[in-house]
Amino acid sequence: MIKFLDLQKINLTHQEEIENRLLQTFRSGWYLMGNDLKQFEKNLAEYIGAEHAIGVANGLDALRLILRAYIEMGVMKKGDEILVPSNTYIASILAISDNGLVPVLVEPGIEHYNIDIHKIEEKITSKTKGILIVHLYGRTIFSEELQKLAEKHHLKIIEDNAQAIGAEWNGKKTGNLGDASGFSFYPGKNLGALGDAGAITTNDEELTKTIRALANYGSNQKYVNIYQGLNSRLDEIQAAVLDVKLKYIDAENTVRRNIAKRYINEVSNPQIILPENPEDEKEHVWHIFVIRTQKRDSLQSYLTENGVQTLIHYPIPPHKQQAYKEWNDLSFPISEKIHNEVLSLPISPVMEDEDITKVIELLNKF
Ligand SMILES: *Cc1c(COP(=O)(O)O)cnc(C)c1O
Repeated sequence: MIKFLDLQKINLTHQEEIENRLLQTFRSGWYLMGNDLKQFEKNLAEYIGAEHAIGVANGLDALRLILRAYIEMGVMKKGDEILVPSNTYIASILAISDNGLVPVLVEPGIEHYNIDIHKIEEKITSKTKGILIVHLYGRTIFSEELQKLAEKHHLKIIEDNAQAIGAEWNGKKTGNLGDASGFSFYPGKNLGALGDAGAITTNDEELTKTIRALANYGSNQKYVNIYQGLNSRLDEIQAAVLDVKLKYIDAENTVRRNIAKRYINEVSNPQIILPENPEDEKEHVWHIFVIRTQKRDSLQSYLTENGVQTLIHYPIPPHKQQAYKEWNDLSFPISEKIHNEVLSLPISPVMEDEDITKVIELLNKF
């Protein structure tokens, strides 16, 4: 079977280096807030080009903490509105509502599946305080127009960079385009840990200080609590693994780009709509390779029967989820179309050429 993602094989590529580093961490006797975290934060900040990187427990916490810090800093308050794409993974939206902020859904563009920048301004009210952009599937969404819009309306731009580590816009990395950025290192992400892990990058020193305190029980100084904080730490074991794997992220993203190129050049079935390859190929790191077809469910069964595992990102749009039942009657036709038609093909830095060829042949025969 061709797996959607072979995590074992991906991590075994770095077996010796990871095992050696883990053994060091194990034997050090220091498991939280130690040298592995410090080193990973330093290397991540340097890689992204941002001044600060803060390791946290997971990607959802990264986004929650950014918004919570803006509330503690007086930049936002409960009831304020944050714009967010209507087809994102639920975590982007949970981070907003969890803070008592109001998610305002904006439709994506059907050509790139990212927030439609032209639909942002009509959603801005006196309560809008930020835009949470999501580089969905690994494709950068950013433009000067977006920057100007944010400046004009005094909005913070927060990046959900869970799927796009390594992607660039105009020579700058995602995670360094807006005011603050949340990362996830969930095992299946392009940079994956051996469990849950996340981080925040920013150039804002006050924000960094506030987040560090919030993630540590609201405390900057032991037993002195300035906020009603939480406990959200990136442990030494995960930091050590991530610090090893960070060195290889560019090479691994290049392999993904080459697979994406093959799919785009060689799949020629008119029933299948392929994703756009951006003019600047650095804008995409192909976390997920998403095709669209009106025969999605039968295509997925056909591929399964022929030994190819696929997934759907995502089957139910956020506004149709029970968790947000107040939105269930709203209509977001582009999101709904996307959720009904998308299918994600296998793509990973360890995918074999012959497997790519097999997927392409199957798709062309369908
Ligand atoms: C994975 C993901 C998250 C959440 O990250 P976790 O580490 O699983 O909490 C948030 N946003 C997007 C777009 C994601 O893909």
